[in-house]
Amino acid sequence: MNDITYDLRVLQSHLDSILQRVEHNSLTLKRLQSFEMHLLGLNSLAEILEFILDECKSLFDLEVVSLYLFDPNGEIAECLSQNNYESHARSGLLLVDNDGLFKRFFDFRLQPVLGLYHPEKYAPFFHGFSEPPSSVILVPLVRRGRYLGSLNLGSRKKDRFVKTMATDFIAHLGSVISVCLENTLNFETLRRTSFLDPLTGVNNRRFMEQRLVEELERSLRSQQPLSCLFLDIDFFKRINDSYGHQTGDYVLSSVACAIKKHLRNSDVLSRYGGEEFVVLLPEADARIAGEIGERIRDCIASLMLDYAESKISVTLSVGAATFDASRTQQTSISALAAQLLHAADTALYRAKRDGRNRVVNAGDIPSEQACTV
Ligand code: GH3
Ligand code: MG
Ligand code: MG
Repeated sequence: MNDITYDLRVLQSHLDSILQRVEHNSLTLKRLQSFEMHLLGLNSLAEILEFILDECKSLFDLEVVSLYLFDPNGEIAECLSQNNYESHARSGLLLVDNDGLFKRFFDFRLQPVLGLYHPEKYAPFFHGFSEPPSSVILVPLVRRGRYLGSLNLGSRKKDRFVKTMATDFIAHLGSVISVCLENTLNFETLRRTSFLDPLTGVNNRRFMEQRLVEELERSLRSQQPLSCLFLDIDFFKRINDSYGHQTGDYVLSSVACAIKKHLRNSDVLSRYGGEEFVVLLPEADARIAGEIGERIRDCIASLMLDYAESKISVTLSVGAATFDASRTQQTSISALAAQLLHAADTALYRAKRDGRNRVVNAGDIPSEQACTV
C-alpha cells in the first residue's frame, strides 16, 4: 500500500513538473507571438533594430543582447544614417562588411548554437560589453541561403542556455526577424534609390518636386522665404563632343559634388535633367540666394578637373528666384511651385543670353503687381 502511495506521489510530481513545463512553454509562446506581431508591425529599419535590441532582453530576461548584420555595400549604414540613426553609437549593434564570421561560426548548418560562454569562440559576437555572459545562444539570420547576420543572446546564468535545450522557438524567431529585416531593407533601399539620380548620386527631379511642395507649405506656415537656384553647365555639349560621354559623365558628377559642398543639410540639391541642377534653399532670402549662387558659380569656374590625362574646366550659369510668403494671400501650392521654378528658369535663360558664367537674380516672387495666386 505504502509503495503504491509512494509511486502515486512520484507520478503526481512528474505530472506537476510536466504541467509546469507546458505552462512555461505556452507563456513563452505567447510572449514570442506578441514580440513577433509587434516586429511585423514596425515600418523602419531603425525601429526594428531598436526593438530587437531592447525587447529581446526583457522577453528572454537576459543581460546581454547583440545584433550583428552583414552590410557588404554599406546599404544598411546608408539607410540608417538617412534616418539620423547613428548605428556605430548603438551598443550591441555591429555592421560588418564580411560574412566570413557567420560562415565560419555556423558552418552552414543554419541552426542556433548554444552553451557555456567560451571567450575564444564567442567573444567576436559580444564586442564592447564590459562583462561577458556566462551562457549564450547565437541565432543565424539567413534569407535565400545568404547570411544577413546573427542575433546573439547572453545570460549571466550558467544554466540558462544548455546544449540539451530545444531551440525551435528561437530558430522560429530568427526566421521571422530575418524576413522583417530583408523586407524592410529592400523597401527602404528601393524608396531611397527611386529618389536618387544614379549618375551623380544627388536627388532626382521627382524628389525635388515633392520637396518643393513641402518646403512651400513650410514657408507659408513659418512666413520664412524659400529660394530656388536653377543651374546649367555652359556649353556642356562641347565637353561630350571633345572628350567623349564618359568624360562628360565624370564632369557632371564632379560639378554635382562641388555644388553640394556649398549647401547646408537642409538645402535640397537635385539633378533636374541633363546638365541642369536645381537647388532649394529654405529660409534663404533673395540676397542670400544670390550670394550662394555666386559662390557656386565662382567655385565651378575655378575647378580644374583631371580625367584620363585631360585637364577640363567648365562654367555654370545660374538663375535665382525667391518665394516671399508675406506677399501671398491665396495659396495654390502647385501654382506657387510652378511660378518659383519658372522665375528661376527664366533668370537662368537671361544669364545664358547675357554671356553665361553668371548669376541672374529674379528676386522675390510673387511680384508686387501679381501678389495673389
Ligand atoms: P548651354 O550653354 O546653352 O547650356 O549649352 P549646352 O551645350 O550645355 O546645352 P545643350 O542643351 O545644347 O546640350 C546639353 C548636353 O548635355 C547635350 C547632352 O548630350 C548632354 N547630356 C545630357 N545628359 C547627359 C549625361 O547624363 N551624360 C553626358 N555625358 N552628357 C549629357
Ligand atoms: Mg548647358
Ligand atoms: Mg541645359
